[in-house]
Amino acid sequence: MAQYGVTCRACGKAETTQIYGPSKEREWKITNYRCYACYRQDKQAQDAGRVERQVAEMLTALANATPGEREQCRAEWTRAITAVEGTVERRQVAQIVLERMG
Ligand SMILES: [Zn+2]
Repeated sequence: MAQYGVTCRACGKAETTQIYGPSKEREWKITNYRCYACYRQDKQAQDAGRVERQVAEMLTALANATPGEREQCRAEWTRAITAVEGTVERRQVAQIVLERMG
């Protein structure tokens, strides 16, 4: 069990943490350490970026759709918002697409 004093590369917060792995890997982890708060923030930003890209793709596809296809899509996205089998991300995409498709 090795405890290391580390400094978050993003916010500069100093912490003590356990780091595992071969020494090369540990060095890398120490150099590139991110505290949990910064890790969460990065992950949320990545998730938001992924949602935005999917929404953009959908809206681009919808721009060329016929009125009938648009209605079909609207029904599908409306279902997706409440579908229990769907992921949180898909529900987010559905919500935004519906808001923006007008
Ligand atoms: Zn941090």
